[in-house]
Amino acid sequence: MSGDNEWLINFAAFLAILLSIVSLLMFFRIQRLRKKEEGEKIIKKITDTLHIGAFIINKGAFIYVNNRLCELTGYSAETLKQMKWQDVVSLQNFEGTAAVINDLREGRTNAIEERIVVIRGDGSRVSLVVKSQKISDMRHSLIYVGTADVEDRAYLQSGDGKESLIDPVTELPGSLALRRQLEHETIENPALSLALVFVDIDSMNRVNDTIGRDAGDKLLQEAAKRLKECEGERVYHYRGDEFAILFKNRTRADLKMHMKRIMNSFTAPIQIHDTPWYESITMGVSFFPGDADSGGRLIDSAIAAIHYAKKNSRGKYEFYNPGIINSLRKRLELEMDLRHAVKRNEFTLHYQPQIDLKAGTVVGSEALIRWIHPIRGVISPGIFIPLAEEIGLIEQIGEWVMRTACKQTKQWNDQGLLINVSVNLSPKQLFQENLVDLVQSSLTESGLPAERLQLEITETAGADLFVMSQKLQALEEIGVGISIDDFGTGYNSLNYLKQLPLRQLKIDQSFIRGNRHDHQDVALVRMIVALANELNLQVVAEGVESAEHVQFLKQTNCALAQGYLFARPLNAERFVEQLAPINQQISEMIM
Ligand code: C2E
Ligand code: MG
Ligand code: MG
Repeated sequence: MSGDNEWLINFAAFLAILLSIVSLLMFFRIQRLRKKEEGEKIIKKITDTLHIGAFIINKGAFIYVNNRLCELTGYSAETLKQMKWQDVVSLQNFEGTAAVINDLREGRTNAIEERIVVIRGDGSRVSLVVKSQKISDMRHSLIYVGTADVEDRAYLQSGDGKESLIDPVTELPGSLALRRQLEHETIENPALSLALVFVDIDSMNRVNDTIGRDAGDKLLQEAAKRLKECEGERVYHYRGDEFAILFKNRTRADLKMHMKRIMNSFTAPIQIHDTPWYESITMGVSFFPGDADSGGRLIDSAIAAIHYAKKNSRGKYEFYNPGIINSLRKRLELEMDLRHAVKRNEFTLHYQPQIDLKAGTVVGSEALIRWIHPIRGVISPGIFIPLAEEIGLIEQIGEWVMRTACKQTKQWNDQGLLINVSVNLSPKQLFQENLVDLVQSSLTESGLPAERLQLEITETAGADLFVMSQKLQALEEIGVGISIDDFGTGYNSLNYLKQLPLRQLKIDQSFIRGNRHDHQDVALVRMIVALANELNLQVVAEGVESAEHVQFLKQTNCALAQGYLFARPLNAERFVEQLAPINQQISEMIM
């Protein structure tokens, strides 16, 4: 019995020790778990405040992720913890990434810093810069800790510090979103054909400058709305007045149809401050991989195509081709040369005689500018005036023309040649702040009487006739005459006659130079002259090249004529030399 008791006591003691050991072990385990839990809580607290993604990977699987990584990848922490690296990373066409991931999995790498394309929860892709470091634990598991962050953080920060890929004015994805999308498309699937259409709102700058920024924003919003109605999610607002539309696997013919539809959506006027505004757009198209081998170059070539379209086919579209770059480069060279020309004063004025058909004598001249380029020789205003308008040199050039023409004409007047002078005004000059002062001071400085000066204006699409008429009124009050040039070629000709204080009308040369047997032209010239006479406007016919033209114009009662028949535009010296022979020629022809 006693032996039994002893055994029992020993067994109870053993059990007690065992229990103590188990409870001690349990205590330590609970402690460890608590510590781990607390540790995790602390890690979470710290890492969740980070603006970059953070993770811990053990044996290839995520064991810890912070909130930011969940946002970046679009997966919940629970889902991520059931995933391995290779489940999130896009390995397609990205051999470099595959190798890195393998090295990580097999512990061959201690640290990485790689740009890795990740497939997000919603199927979209994001390019992350991943930095990771191997740490060893006691059991030598392969544990990696690391961070992941989007590229170009600076780009992403919007005013309130939150990240935004959306443009606040148009509420469309912006340039960064486009670049990302292109990068992923081109990296993920180089076999895919992409077409990028850039759309430029033609008069955006004019609206901003003349009506105001609010109106400009309104125009942008309406343009965004129309583009979105046509092309939905494909539309991006790239910058300023430029939108981009990204197409996949489309032919040129498909794109032409899309562009036609887009063009049509801009035919209805846009309401800006209760006024209908007729807007036009220009588009440029480029293809990947045909025209560009990367997303960035695809954007560049679409923009080049749009620039080319603007210079050559305003209001339409252009497909990119390598010749475009060459032509744009030449234009850029000309632009540089033109800036120099202003500084070096490489301009000269030519004067083309205007003949009074009744009196048979030269009564005036039109001042026409020429650029004497040091290498290319004489360049016609048809080429450089539009360029000067575009790059903001027209005001300077216009001022030089005005002062020179007034001075020269005054000199001729002083020599007994009592002639007038006509100076061309570019539409930009007409809206120039100090135009009236410029005209006034040119007259005062030269001493030319105001009635000897005519200013030639042309019709300008979209111009505000009310503003124009006020400007012209002020000029008329000084005493200068306003002449409407190239009459009959615009859409608004009759409104100009009705609303502006005009003295003279110049029939466009296309009506005169045309075939005299063209009954329509003959009838139109007769009508224009009759209308002008009725309105007490002096009529000038341009482009008079033959004696037949003169006979016809005399019959219609046209007052003045100008054209190669009498003289081409001549420099000041030759103009004076040629006056007597020209007068002689006219008297023989007319009398
Ligand atoms: P415009 O004012 O209509 O000038 C008439 C143009 O027709 C001139 O061309 C002249 O040389 C040309 N022309 C004259 N008679 C005949 C003819 O019988 N037959 C033909 N085929 N052509 C004739 P140009 O000098 O090349 O000027 C072209 C345009 O450039 C001008 O058209 C005018 O709009 C602009 N321009 C010229 N000088 C100036 C300037 O100083 N300032 C501004 N803003 N524009 C200017
Ligand atoms: Mg003219
Ligand atoms: Mg003209």
